[in-house]
Amino acid sequence: MKSGALSCPKCGGKLVVNSYYSRTVIESDGSNLKIPIMQTRCIEKACGRTHAMLPHFIMPYKRYAASVIESAILSFEENGGLKHSDCPAEDKTISGWKEQFKNRGATAVNQLQKILYDRYDRSISMIKLITLSLIERLKILTEPLGPALCESLIGSVNIILSRYSSGYI
Ligand SMILES: [Zn+2]
Repeated sequence: MKSGALSCPKCGGKLVVNSYYSRTVIESDGSNLKIPIMQTRCIEKACGRTHAMLPHFIMPYKRYAASVIESAILSFEENGGLKHSDCPAEDKTISGWKEQFKNRGATAVNQLQKILYDRYDRSISMIKLITLSLIERLKILTEPLGPALCESLIGSVNIILSRYSSGYI
């Protein structure tokens, strides 16, 4: 088992990727978007339970698409507030995303750097990153980990971190 691989919370057996399933979230124009969530299965025959690997970053359980959250966070950062936001979510909701992004974004940056170093022997200079915004740092760190997995940056970060935590990267 690779380090970082998860074991079944029920019986301790090894988990393998079972499938991806889609969860529907709301896009900025009000349309629906399906996003992938990784589902794992316990290989112990007596158990065989499935466990969804929930992303660590911005939860897809929130009903808005990561791309909606992402553009709301970007416009919040550019405008220094909610003034010109055309996001369909309420202001309170957007402020919550912004907080969550600030808190979890730094952790995600650290995790991505660790993944690059552990799995690909690559390191990206902290000096280079330090002048950049959180979103720009995440963009630079996800690029070497393959083609975009999802149309949004936050969606891709979610998938990379889910895979890594379950040992599939
Ligand atoms: Zn099990």
